[in-house]
Amino acid sequence: MKLDKVLIANRGEIALRIQRACHQLGIKTVAIHSTADRDLMHVKLADETMCIGPAAAKDSYLNVPAIIAAAEATGASGIHPGYGFLSENADFAEMVENSGFVFIGPQADTIRLMGDKVSAKHAMERAGVPCVPGSPGTLGDSIEENQALAARIGYPIIVKAAGGGGGRGMRVVRSDKELGEAIALTKREADMFFNNPAVYMEKFLENPRHIEFQVLSDGQGHAVYLGERDCSMQRRNQKVLEEAPAPFISDEQRKTIGSACAKACVDIGYRGAGTFEFLFENGRFYFIEMNTRIQVEHPVTEMITGVDIVRETLNVCAGRRLSIKQSDIKITGHAFECRINAEDPRTFMPSPGTINRLHVPGGPGVRWDSHIYQGYTVPPHYDSLVGKLLAHDDTRELARQRMLQALDEMVLEGIKSNIPLHRDLLLDPNEIKGGMSIHYLERMLAAKEAVEQSQQAGEK
Ligand code: ADP
Repeated sequence: MKLDKVLIANRGEIALRIQRACHQLGIKTVAIHSTADRDLMHVKLADETMCIGPAAAKDSYLNVPAIIAAAEATGASGIHPGYGFLSENADFAEMVENSGFVFIGPQADTIRLMGDKVSAKHAMERAGVPCVPGSPGTLGDSIEENQALAARIGYPIIVKAAGGGGGRGMRVVRSDKELGEAIALTKREADMFFNNPAVYMEKFLENPRHIEFQVLSDGQGHAVYLGERDCSMQRRNQKVLEEAPAPFISDEQRKTIGSACAKACVDIGYRGAGTFEFLFENGRFYFIEMNTRIQVEHPVTEMITGVDIVRETLNVCAGRRLSIKQSDIKITGHAFECRINAEDPRTFMPSPGTINRLHVPGGPGVRWDSHIYQGYTVPPHYDSLVGKLLAHDDTRELARQRMLQALDEMVLEGIKSNIPLHRDLLLDPNEIKGGMSIHYLERMLAAKEAVEQSQQAGEK
């Protein structure tokens, strides 16, 4: 299939990132956008544009008939979903391909298989990827059976929606007493949010790190892993700061887990870029889910491997073989990514508005992936990510210093941003050591707030 024109079914920084890769490959682009997004950078630079609906995402970026109609009207050959929106919607992928376009991502059946966490875990177990110990399948209604399962796994356990996502539809249970009620509640939530009441049970890990493996696969028997990222610095299940490689992970662990992930891709005929997410505790990896799409934090991996993940994905989805072998992939140095959000750094309230001054840092090893420019107005309708600042250097410590310098050089005025939070975090003694758990950032913020409150009380 010739991929000569790609419709980008997304917005913001990732739409621009995809467009850059397309243009470099000589692929024309169609930027679809909502009425609130006429001024987006990639819309200005696209070969063709089409407004497909009002600001609300459900009427524009999630409006499947409008997107397919736009692809037909512009003669696009492929559709790139980016991340979020329709990127992991198997029905959308199927409709795209049934309408004669290439879906830039895996086949609909693969999305379906990995979108159900229970079937995903089964597929991973078959490929030899280590998983969190849990129920063999979804849970029935028998209290005795469920208590027996919990006893076998050992409390605390977590009840999770098989079709869940976005950190919703899970509940931690610490004793038999709470179990029945927790399963019933999670089933109701799962039915409400995900239209699928199936839930399962797994061991709840108290203090894990979040470590994920990037893969690229061509669906023709070739797959590689591009090392791992540590994304443990999270607030409310949202990643804030990411790095690659993950601190204190040995070459041997990387190779063992990475090879298992690549093998799983070959086994399921995976096409495109994907991420295997793991919890890591006491030296062991536990698979939790796969993201069947490009991820926000892919650039940290690009910086340490030199592989252009977006370009490679376009190539394999156009039917070509993967251009790289595992032995070509070398990890060099260390990279950090700060997600810059338009939000209050203390209250985390979104802060849309017009950017009236912008100066972007530069120099060796610094990368800025963003759609914003001076005079651009951040609309209130979408997520608050306005850019990703990256720093790469020979060692973790040098990369950290480089990032601090870049944050100092950055000027972003007119909206509030979380730049001060990143600065605090990168100066935190435990973050300097590295390897903190997924709860660390929230605990750090709570401790800071407690200090400020006691100071205020002292002043009164
Ligand atoms: P979602 O698809 O909603 O993001 P995940 O399965 O990726 O759901 O889990 C989201 C987050 O919930 C994880 O990053 C982790 O913080 C927590 N979590 C999920 N499963 C477990 C578990 N077994 N033990 C401890 N924490 C878990």
